[in-house]
Parts: sequence; structure tokens; C-alpha cells
Amino acid sequence: MLIGIDDTDSPAGMCTTYLGAVLARRLIHDHMRVREARLVRLNPNVTFKTRGNAAIALDVEGDPEQGFALACAIVEELADFSCGKTNPGVVVAEKRPDPAFYQRAVTDFCEIDEAVAVLEAAGARYRGWKNRRGLVGATAAVSSVFPDTTYEILAYRDPARWGTSREVDRESLFAAEEATFPHTWDTVDVANRVVVCVPHTPDPVLFGIRGESPAWVMAARSLILSEKPAFEQIWVTNQGTDAHLLSGTCGSLREGLSYRVRGVVINRPVTGAGGHVSLAIRDNRADVRCMAYEPTKNFRDIVRALVPGDEIVAVGSYKKGSINLEKMCLVSPARDLRTQAPLCTTCSKRMTSAGKGKGFKCRKCGAHAMEPEVLETPRMLTAGWYEVPPTARRHLSKPLCRGAPEL
Ligand code: ATP
Repeated sequence: MLIGIDDTDSPAGMCTTYLGAVLARRLIHDHMRVREARLVRLNPNVTFKTRGNAAIALDVEGDPEQGFALACAIVEELADFSCGKTNPGVVVAEKRPDPAFYQRAVTDFCEIDEAVAVLEAAGARYRGWKNRRGLVGATAAVSSVFPDTTYEILAYRDPARWGTSREVDRESLFAAEEATFPHTWDTVDVANRVVVCVPHTPDPVLFGIRGESPAWVMAARSLILSEKPAFEQIWVTNQGTDAHLLSGTCGSLREGLSYRVRGVVINRPVTGAGGHVSLAIRDNRADVRCMAYEPTKNFRDIVRALVPGDEIVAVGSYKKGSINLEKMCLVSPARDLRTQAPLCTTCSKRMTSAGKGKGFKCRKCGAHAMEPEVLETPRMLTAGWYEVPPTARRHLSKPLCRGAPEL
């Protein structure tokens, strides 16, 4: 059976993965075999989410009635029902529901009734609490098929320590990154000297190490010095796989979906208030704005180095009229050309504009010229992919250390 759970946590605490990991131990205690524990990230732009829009699924050999009872009991015991935004859902399916539902939930928005229809069609057991929204994530989790997978080992804190500051040795995290990157990633942000894998929220997670295999995440984990975790769980995940991306064109983007869009830069990037950088790209139909927000740190220097005429692939979520860049590819760099009024050939003074379309004139001797002086600046930026630093990375974004995306 596949057991799916979602929407058990709140900003004040709990975490659906913790609840799933405890459930896995109870199922094993009751002589069931847990074949796989899945951490399934869904559309990162869903407003109902608490943090990272995660749901979980356990692939279990055992009695579905008993599995369903244990899953419902653990939700009743551990979910944070006090929060208005916590609306748990539990699903037990004996066969995988249509994976198309997962596909929609990771790239788009789904209704609760759609999830219920999928569950009915699959003959699944299910239960939703309060407004039952958690059934969307729980159904997506049990219907998920991953064309690409990564792993995360999550260490959970002793409940007595929840809400207190986490004791994790900073240097050991940098050492773990150094020893295992690029087989693991996003433990720390080396360039910005920031720890990424230790949350600051009051939930039960102590730290999480992401990587390409169970062996690599365990290798990194073995180097980390910290307070004693209560227990640890290795999750199979769709994190770092770009599962949220669709192909799009400038004029056809929908709010809250995430895209790869190819276009030509049409203006010099502008740094606005707060250090956010914006530029516009155009394909043969329309224009769209791209943003590199302040938290993307040094990535903004790359974006600022783009010039009009550069052909790029912009990757990110489309929100409020802009693509919020997660990464980008400079496909074909343009020449960086600027024009200015020419020097007068007679008196060597800089000419001034003679009016639109009328060329230039010399204020001193009255000479005329039609062509401006063209200045070319050598490009510092070469063709290729560029990404936000680990500190700004979204859970689903595929880091470039896993291989450059195909164009
Ligand atoms: P955490 O990462 O700490 O587990 P969270 O960020 O996963 O928390 P949830 O508490 O799970 O947040 O809330 C997300 C809610 O949005 C859930 O009810 C889930 O069912 C629902 N949801 C997830 N994806 C979609 C989607 N694509 N369309 C509509 N609802 C969705």
C-alpha cells in the first residue's frame, strides 16, 4: 500500500516528514515492511503552504486497514490542529493513483474535489480533517512517479529540545560539504559563508543533507557534529530535479507556475530599491520581466552583466508579471555596444544631438555628422548556465552540480 500524508504542520511547529518518519517506525514495530519513504515537494507557489510545500508517502507491505488506522491516529496525535491553516489529509491506496495528478500538483494548482475524484477512482481509503486541503498533497504523494530522484537524510530533534536553539557544529558542516560536494549539495553556501541545512523554525528538524544517493548523504552526515538527534530518516525525493518546470513562451505564462522561457534581452538590467535587479526579455510574441531579488546575492552580478541582444533561457516562477529567476542560461552573448555623439573632426569637441533622426552637430563650428561613435566593451560573461547560490535555492530547483539542463 501507499500511505500519503500532508498538511500537519504550522509555523509554530511540527513537520509532516517528522510525522511520516514516526509512522514508519510504528508500522515496522507492527511487523510491516516499509519499502520506501518519499518526500514529495509540490508547486512551490501554493499560498496555503507553511514552508516548503512538502507531502510524504510511505510504500508499505502490510494490512491497508491497519496502515490507515495507524496513519489517522498519528495525525490526530501529532498534527498542529490549533493552526487555522493546518488541514490534514491521509490517504491509503492499494494501487498507485494516476500519476497525472502528481504532475499537476507539482507544476500547477489542484482542487480538493479533484483529489477526491482521483482517490475514488483508485478505490483508496482517505480521510481529511477541517477543510481537507491536505488531501491534495497526500493524493499527489501517493500518485507520484519521479523521472529523477535525489535523497535527503533528515535528523530529527528530541521533542524536549523543540523550540530551543539547535546545536550543530558549523565547521563540521563546512567540512562535510568539502568532503562530499558535488555528490551532496546545499549543506552550506560556501561563497556567502551561510549554513543552509539547519532550519531556524521551531519544527522538529535538526538538519537535512541532500545528495545523489543514500551512501553520499550518509557519508556527509557522518562528518556532522551536533546535539544527539532523536532519530534519522533517509527520504527519496524529487528535490533538486526541476520537477516544477514547464516550457513556456513570454506571452503565455500563468500566475504561480514555473517555467523555462527563451528570449532576447531588450534592456540593460536595472537595480531597483532593495537591490532587486530587473530586466525584460522578448520572444517573437511578447515581452516578460525577469527579476533577480536581493536574496539571490552574487547571482545578481551575473544578471547585471547581461546586455541587450543576449539570448537567454530564463528559469523560474512567474509571479505578479515577472519570472523570479532561479537560474538562467546565456545561450548566445551579444556584443556589448554603446553609442555616443561623435567628436567633431574639425575642432575635436564632442558633438550634440541635432534632434531625433537628424544626427549630430558641433556647437562650436556648426559641422554636422549622421553616425554616432560606437563603443564596444569586452564581455565578462561567457555562454553557459548560472544559478542562485544555495542560500536562495528552492527545494525543487536542480543545482547545476547535478548537470546542466538540456536546452
Ligand atoms: P512543510 O514543508 O513544513 O511540511 P508545507 O509547506 O508542506 O509545510 P503544508 O502544511 O503541507 O505546507 O500546506 C500545503 C497545503 O497546500 C496542503 O494542504 C496541500 O495539500 C496543499 N497543496 C499542495 N500542493 C497543491 C497544489 N498544487 N494545488 C493546491 N493545493 C496544494
